Amino acid sequence: MIAKPKGTYDLMGVDAKIYTYISHEIEDMMSNYNYELIRTPIFEASELFHRSVGETTDIVTKETYDFKDRGDRNITLRPEGTAGVVRSVIENKLYGNKNDAIKLYYNGTMYRYERPQSGRNREFTQFGIEAFNSNDPMLDAEVISVSYYLLNNLGIEATVAINSLGDAESRKNYTDALVKYLKPHINDLCEDCQNRINTNPLRILDCKVDKDSEILKNVPKISDYLSKESKERFEKVKEYLNILDINYEVNENIVRGLDYYDENVWEYIADSDGVTLGGGGRYNHLVEALDGPSIPAVGFAMGIERIILNIKENIEVKNLDQAVDVYIMSVSDEEKIRALEIAQYLRLNNVATEINSCNLSMKSQFKIADRLQAKFLIILNNEDLQKGLVNIKDNATKEEIKVDEAEVVDWILGNI
Ligand code: ATP
Ligand code: MG
Repeated sequence: MIAKPKGTYDLMGVDAKIYTYISHEIEDMMSNYNYELIRTPIFEASELFHRSVGETTDIVTKETYDFKDRGDRNITLRPEGTAGVVRSVIENKLYGNKNDAIKLYYNGTMYRYERPQSGRNREFTQFGIEAFNSNDPMLDAEVISVSYYLLNNLGIEATVAINSLGDAESRKNYTDALVKYLKPHINDLCEDCQNRINTNPLRILDCKVDKDSEILKNVPKISDYLSKESKERFEKVKEYLNILDINYEVNENIVRGLDYYDENVWEYIADSDGVTLGGGGRYNHLVEALDGPSIPAVGFAMGIERIILNIKENIEVKNLDQAVDVYIMSVSDEEKIRALEIAQYLRLNNVATEINSCNLSMKSQFKIADRLQAKFLIILNNEDLQKGLVNIKDNATKEEIKVDEAEVVDWILGNI
């Protein structure tokens, strides 16, 4: 037997049902908020991720799946969604002559060579949005609210932890102060942080190893280094979040794992267990850094597997096991033909319907109808069919009525 690769999984059973439920919710939300689907390739030129995610990030230094294809090109399986979307916006000149926001979303698999554990896989799924062409903090607030309310609609209570990394100058001043503070203590921090101090000092703030150390608890505060503009912008975002009734708190340790963020960044933290479900931020310089025009942007990504885990542990999703509305029971050839006809009408009228396609006995069919949680059974028998009648049984109340065959579809549509 050949086993699946480490860190991958087969989506099936309850997880698949929850996944479908989440996907429907995402599609509804995206249409209500006017975001358009974009699907970019799962593999891209390696350089794209080195230049966007950042040479010194954990993702690029330790986690990418890199290979040479048969044409000797350096290829990487995408570890995140933003780089590909930005590449596509530039390559397809989506910014064109539009002056309104370009609002895109994706939902697809990502690949990171990580140590597999609960909520951490090598192949995983992210839903994310990227919105371009506007530097208005109102768009930040909208983007934050989309997934806050997505989680809310799914029954997950979460807090948005927000921070401002400021503009380039604020960040430079803060980074200098941070390095100055950390240098004397550096040998007390983990090995990764000892490297980060030279390559990417801000990342030390969200180090998972050192997070409880006294050294990190007393670092200089970034809020003391923000420019007037960055402060005002952060205040605006908070004002809009209040209007949108979003549960947020400022957390100055949120810096995010990718290099390209500036100004507002945030993470969604599940109230039930403190797990980070997703995060995002503004990235006003990435499009330009990838040889595009200078257009501002803001976006986020959430991990679908972590959402599935949270739902499984905390929420009873209604009707998750209900597979069909109607089960049509038939045994004889004539009954089977009528079952096929009626099922076809029902299915084409959006009524989920199952039939006996395995030549089962009546007893087995009753059992299966229960397992599929059919609301109604349509029980066909030759005698009634000859009179143009079918029996409909309410599977909860067990009440039965006879209905004219011609009216069965209308009857079901009127009663489910
Ligand atoms: P973490 O700190 O947990 O490693 P991250 O900062 O690397 O997360 P992002 O790159 O911001 O994660 O990705 C956004 C979301 O995608 C995460 O909050 C998480 O829900 C999900 N995610 C990231 N990596 C994985 C993974 N290996 N397996 C499953 N989900 C993941
Ligand atoms: Mg990570």
